[in-house]
Amino acid sequence: DTVLKFENVHKSFGPAHIIRDVDLDVHRGERHAVIGPNGAGKSTLFHLCSGQFAPSSGRILLDGEQISGLRPAEVNRRGLARSFQITNIFPGITVHENLRLAVMRKHGLQFSFWRFAGRLSAVNAEVEDLLDRLRLTARAGTLANQLSYSEQRSLEIGMTLASDPKLILLDEPMAGMSQEETDYTADLIREITRGRTLLIVEHDMSVVFALADRISVLVYGEIIATGTPEEIRANAQVKEAYLGEEVAA
Ligand code: ADP
Ligand code: MG
Ligand code: MG
Repeated sequence: DTVLKFENVHKSFGPAHIIRDVDLDVHRGERHAVIGPNGAGKSTLFHLCSGQFAPSSGRILLDGEQISGLRPAEVNRRGLARSFQITNIFPGITVHENLRLAVMRKHGLQFSFWRFAGRLSAVNAEVEDLLDRLRLTARAGTLANQLSYSEQRSLEIGMTLASDPKLILLDEPMAGMSQEETDYTADLIREITRGRTLLIVEHDMSVVFALADRISVLVYGEIIATGTPEEIRANAQVKEAYLGEEVAA
């Protein structure tokens, strides 16, 4: 059962072939990581998924429907939630209020006070559950802009999750974090995305090995290997691609 499918996707910028004939399947319920050295094309692949870029050729399907060529908002509406894009956090309101807005949006309640009033307790129960899973219960009344960097990241991921998307897309969510914050956030993402479909783009192999069910390795725009963490770790071509960089033991 495939949620996201790349069929022979190619992306060029002028003469530069950045994504080359990529086939990729993200299965329902798996956490799939795309890794690769800097400049491999990971962010470009990510932007192709979310509609920022259209492929030069090939097709991208979400749940069997073609999404390549659609605008980002339309791709989002069809169930692909990309963190740090549409579900931005509002800095001047509390953590609880942010999550409540996201839950209300999912239920289509944001414009209707009276419908919302009747479902206040159900909405609040969902918010409490999210707070718990995001480990932010103690921060519920804190303004979003008072959170630490990794707490803000947690909230952003929670806002993405609150829309109950078919696919969650994260591009280097641990970028700019200390080792401690990285470990914490990787663990949180693993917990909170259990049973969901996740595509995570990440440079750090140790993070990916701890989180992903399957890994695809992108090098110079081509996927050179897809497999379980064990298979990828044992792959000689992958080691060579990371030449000079640390490959997680
Ligand atoms: P990664 O995320 O793996 O580090 P990127 O996808 O950001 O790699 O970039 C891959 C290559 O594509 C880089 O050489 C980059 O310069 C090039 N590239 C990315 N976006 C554009 C663009 N809009 N126009 C031209 N070249 C681009
Ligand atoms: Mg990069
Ligand atoms: Mg990148």
